[in-house]
Amino acid sequence: MDPLKALADAERTPYWLDSPAKPEPLPRLFGETTADLAVVGGGFTGLWTALMAKERDPSLDVVLLEGRRIGWAASGRNGGFTMASLTHGLANGLERWPEEIATLERLGMDNLDEIGRTVDGYAIDCDYERTGELHVATEPWQLDEMRETAAIAREMGIRFDPLDRERIRAEVNSPTYLGGHWERDGCAMLDPARLAWGLRRACLSLGVRIHERTPVRHLRDTPAGLDLRTPYGGVRAAGVALGTGVFRPLLRRLKHFLVPVYDYALMTEPLSAEQLASVGWHNRQGVGDAANQFHYYRLTADNRILWGGYDAVYYNGGKVRPEYEQRDATFVKLAEHFFTTFPQLAGLRFTHRWGGVIDTCSRFSAFYGLAHGGRLAYAAGYTGLGVGATRFGANVMLDLLGGERTERTELRMVREKPLPFPPEPVRSVGIQMTRWSIARADLHQGRRNLWLRTLDRLGLGFDS
Ligand SMILES: Cc1cc2nc3c(=O)[nH]c(=O)nc-3n(C[C@H](O)[C@H](O)[C@H](O)COP(=O)(O)OP(=O)(O)OC[C@H]3O[C@@H](n4cnc5c(N)ncnc54)[C@H](O)[C@@H]3O)c2cc1C
Repeated sequence: MDPLKALADAERTPYWLDSPAKPEPLPRLFGETTADLAVVGGGFTGLWTALMAKERDPSLDVVLLEGRRIGWAASGRNGGFTMASLTHGLANGLERWPEEIATLERLGMDNLDEIGRTVDGYAIDCDYERTGELHVATEPWQLDEMRETAAIAREMGIRFDPLDRERIRAEVNSPTYLGGHWERDGCAMLDPARLAWGLRRACLSLGVRIHERTPVRHLRDTPAGLDLRTPYGGVRAAGVALGTGVFRPLLRRLKHFLVPVYDYALMTEPLSAEQLASVGWHNRQGVGDAANQFHYYRLTADNRILWGGYDAVYYNGGKVRPEYEQRDATFVKLAEHFFTTFPQLAGLRFTHRWGGVIDTCSRFSAFYGLAHGGRLAYAAGYTGLGVGATRFGANVMLDLLGGERTERTELRMVREKPLPFPPEPVRSVGIQMTRWSIARADLHQGRRNLWLRTLDRLGLGFDS
């Protein structure tokens, strides 16, 4: 199948955002106002923070300021894999916080259960399906690593059902699969843009004031609270929660911990009944392969396939630019890999191609903290797994701003910060060397070279 032909008519825009369900923008902020809590950023981090602040205390006056549109960034253009894991997967959590991994897994599962309850409770129409995730091995070396993680998961009481070659192909029919396992409970699939728009509606229903197209340009301390300046006005707030992802941080120190990494995805046209039958996929799980440069893929409600991942691109200099959201070489590579995985779907066309920027930090999972004398909280660094974990991050910020000691705030994972990235140009050289080494590891039975082993020892990493 010629990948260029399959891509020829694809719209250059995120599939989920290209939807008639997209609401009209809420008004900009004009003039001066005050609030008990100002939330900056209208992605999942900001939306969950505003919503749960009102749920905790309905009398709180909450305002949310979004520079562009609710959910336009990573939150509205991702794969929609909503994972229980708060640590970018069990293996990363075990490596970094072995003594508290059981607690982290329990809190993550509770968090995912609560997301499901919120979706039901506010009747958010986002095609939420708790399908679990299939982890598939396409090379023999991946099977060994997966068996080890799955064995530990099972010891911890997490449902990781092993599937041999025949059984995994009976779930999803690809000639590339050698085996794997089905993580039954730890993942739900959803339409991320419709979740963001649904959370926006839920926030409004509780009385959160939301202003879109209202970027916060500056933030400063005043005796009467934190002062946020926007193009046509400002907010004086007792507390501020930052959910600004990878964008230019209002708190300078965050820029040492975050790098923008671009991730790309394709969406196919809907599969016909025969095409779907040729793939199976009756249980509709999310699927991820176990390579270092991994693919993730899933079905939508109308049986399209979203196919993303593999290349995780850092553009030297670390800028965030609209033109980086399209990358022809990556789309061609992704299309080729798609037809290698599903040769029976030759002839299927892609309708959408897009990229988005991920807030990567060196420990692959979010970090949290307070600044400005405890009046400002932040949560960032979800590194490509934030659809579920942002709700946990929002809860951490609210605990911290409230001065509460909770099970969450006592976690070492919450109290510690990641290692900072070195400044440019060393940053670019180091990241490109890491990307090159990761690609080589995949070609050489997963063997990690001296550079990767040194980074592993330092606890420094690069991922999407
Ligand atoms: C292609 C892609 C696929 C992904 N797939 C998955 C997946 O399947 N599963 C998963 O768990 N995660 C996935 N992720 C990651 C996930 O989308 C993110 O972790 C999550 O959405 C982060 O949410 P956020 O609210 O922190 O950040 P964002 O969604 O980036 O939102 C930040 C918001 O803050 C606003 N903002 C920034 N600065 C200001 C300012 N000064 N004033 C006002 N507003 C401001 C921005 O405009 C933006 O709307 C993927 C990401 C990408 C890009």
